[in-house]
Amino acid sequence: MAEKQDDRKVTPRSQDFAGWYNDIVLRAELADYSPVRGCIVFRPDGFAIWEALRDELDRRIKRTGARNAYFPLFIPQSFLRKEAQHVEGFAPEVAAVTHGGGEELEEPLIVRPTSETIINHMFAQWIHSYRDLPLMVNQWCNVVRWEMRTRLFLRTAEFLWQEGHTAHASREEAERETLTMLEVYRSFVEEFLAIPLIVGRKSAAERFPGADETYTIEGLMGDGRALQCGTSHFLGQNFAKAFEIKYLDEQNQLQYAWQTSWGVSTRLLGAIIMVHGDDQGLRLPPTVASTQVVIVPIYRKPEEGEAVLAKAGEIREALEKAGVRVRLDARDGVSPGFKFNDWEMRGVPLRIEIGPRDLASGEVVLARRDLKGPEAKSKVPVAAAATKVSALLDDIQRSLYQQAREAMSRETREFANYADLKKQMEGEGGGGFAVVFWCGNPACETRIREETRATCRAIPLNQSGSHGNCIVCGNPASERAHFAKAY
Ligand SMILES: [Zn+2]
Repeated sequence: MAEKQDDRKVTPRSQDFAGWYNDIVLRAELADYSPVRGCIVFRPDGFAIWEALRDELDRRIKRTGARNAYFPLFIPQSFLRKEAQHVEGFAPEVAAVTHGGGEELEEPLIVRPTSETIINHMFAQWIHSYRDLPLMVNQWCNVVRWEMRTRLFLRTAEFLWQEGHTAHASREEAERETLTMLEVYRSFVEEFLAIPLIVGRKSAAERFPGADETYTIEGLMGDGRALQCGTSHFLGQNFAKAFEIKYLDEQNQLQYAWQTSWGVSTRLLGAIIMVHGDDQGLRLPPTVASTQVVIVPIYRKPEEGEAVLAKAGEIREALEKAGVRVRLDARDGVSPGFKFNDWEMRGVPLRIEIGPRDLASGEVVLARRDLKGPEAKSKVPVAAAATKVSALLDDIQRSLYQQAREAMSRETREFANYADLKKQMEGEGGGGFAVVFWCGNPACETRIREETRATCRAIPLNQSGSHGNCIVCGNPASERAHFAKAY
């Protein structure tokens, strides 16, 4: 099965980005299509990335004081109807169970598209006094949204995510929590996934249904399209009022709680592929790679093999002791060249090559996945391999972030003229981030969306303080916004 991979070329990324993306997902064995339309099968190599990401983010979420819980998959249909904007936002994409145990149910059960409603139903039972606040829960689970157009990892009917839900005694505290989680997501995605981001709030049109304010982290993919990588919502008292979440304050007055919710999903796997991948395959940041280093022994004659494999085994042990996730590819019957291609496709950050000549000189060759050409390779004495490898992995992490940062900068343009913006967004490709002054009027935003297909991705929190004129209507505008075509 492995040999079969070699004779099919990956679609070049520059030629057909969507075709390239699907090739990588399938050939790196991250995921597969499911017999159920719109659903996805996570293969072990893909799921391992999710696990690494999940474990690290879980640690960071818990450090903020939230704790994990689990709520049911099924939600009474009536729950979803309680918050007007929420029902409007999710109604078109909910899946419902109408039969169970061979009988029609009295009330259909919704398969959760998000758990706001059921969690708030429970919060109303658990919260009585200011002493019960803040209440901060997070759950790792699957959700279902009946998508008609689906794409592996990016848009699937069922996906995995975490959703945090919190209730607080004051507006200020809830607003602070919303921004705390936004920063948790930003630092996590930038540091751990090496993906640079734009951080900002959403326009009213792009807000989460039922939220007073939605904050977002947005990445730019290799084709110049934006991808929403995570969101944090300030829900005000909207759900508290719909679900009667009230508490007695210190003056014994009954008050509605203030709330937040926040989440990231398996879309992040798509972001890793689309930001870092190249024509040779996946390029994984060392932090999420289940194999960080692969050792490929190189020899022609079987009698050379024994010594080479013995030394390769020693290096593996030294690396394991140093805490590196390492694999020795001792497969028989496939050439070193095949192995190189195979591990490059799977995105392993660093390769160690060792052959009889290296044995004689006491050195090994290190080949980095993040660089191309002669600068990708270096030689290092066997004794120093473990130390050198750890340092190189850190360097690869930084280098992938830097490359992505530069690509995003190249694809971020300021526009003062609407015709120029339209021209930039023409055609089937992405178009990058367009930074424009926008007056805040939804009519101007709608016109941009309809005429260029670019949507308002984020209004950055840090504005330079300058003023300008709305790119559409020309009225005074005090904020710049990032527009882009998006996934
Ligand atoms: Zn305007």
